[in-house]
Amino acid sequence: MGMEANDAYAARFLSFVSRETWGGLVPRDRLRPLDPSKVAGIVVHHTTGSQIEPDRMIAAHDRYHHVTRGWAGGLAYNWLVSADGRIWEGRGWNQGGATKGWNDKTVAVAYLGDSNVDWPVDAQAAMRVLLSEVFRRYGVGLWLKVHSDFKATDCCGGPLRDWIRGLDLEALRGAVNGSESVSGIRGQSGWTGFHEFLWELRKLVAVKPLRRWRKNHKWCVMAVQARLNDLGFDVGKADGVFGRRTKQGVQAFQNAQWHMRSNGIVGTAVWDALFVS
Ligand SMILES: [Zn+2]
Repeated sequence: MGMEANDAYAARFLSFVSRETWGGLVPRDRLRPLDPSKVAGIVVHHTTGSQIEPDRMIAAHDRYHHVTRGWAGGLAYNWLVSADGRIWEGRGWNQGGATKGWNDKTVAVAYLGDSNVDWPVDAQAAMRVLLSEVFRRYGVGLWLKVHSDFKATDCCGGPLRDWIRGLDLEALRGAVNGSESVSGIRGQSGWTGFHEFLWELRKLVAVKPLRRWRKNHKWCVMAVQARLNDLGFDVGKADGVFGRRTKQGVQAFQNAQWHMRSNGIVGTAVWDALFVS
């Protein structure tokens, strides 16, 4: 497989935060998967709320929907994007709860913030990725609307609404079609492509463990760095360079595993501890 062709693919998934990673509350009711034959469109929201760190912000909205509103499924959006360009899993590909009357027919995507306060370019990039993923999964024929098309509300805020209405949908849909012909792994359905991708990277690590002072595969290192950051071992920006800070992060991670020697080298055992368990 030509890994070099998949730079954008890696980047987009490495900025993906699963519900498990951000610590979403467990829904009281089992979530119902969306029926692809019913999904007709995408509805865009913004969460509003005070501007704090995205992980605290999403947790606050999760609690609000779970506890204050008492919604059995918890956080009502399917997916969210944050100001720093990350994509966050809400109810994922299960039925959402953010657009009354339309939740079994639509995918609710939200900006984790108030678009009237800011609608930064990193969030815009993440929203494009998210929208193309939804188009890819449920068909390029989906319509795209904002929450205020359904009820009297300011959601999703003026700036995001204008941005959505100004989007070149044909280009987005074209990118979806184009992406499938570029590379085999992009043909994987939905986010499961990410696991395929990690599996390919693991093969490289099996042949040549990652360590400092060695020419490592950039994406293997990026994946490790992003994962360490997700797990709270701060190694700075996931830049693909295995420097001192990355080595220290790996050692700290190894120290936290009772059975591991902290040598700062990432072989398959460390890789699996990071990604598989
Ligand atoms: Zn809304």
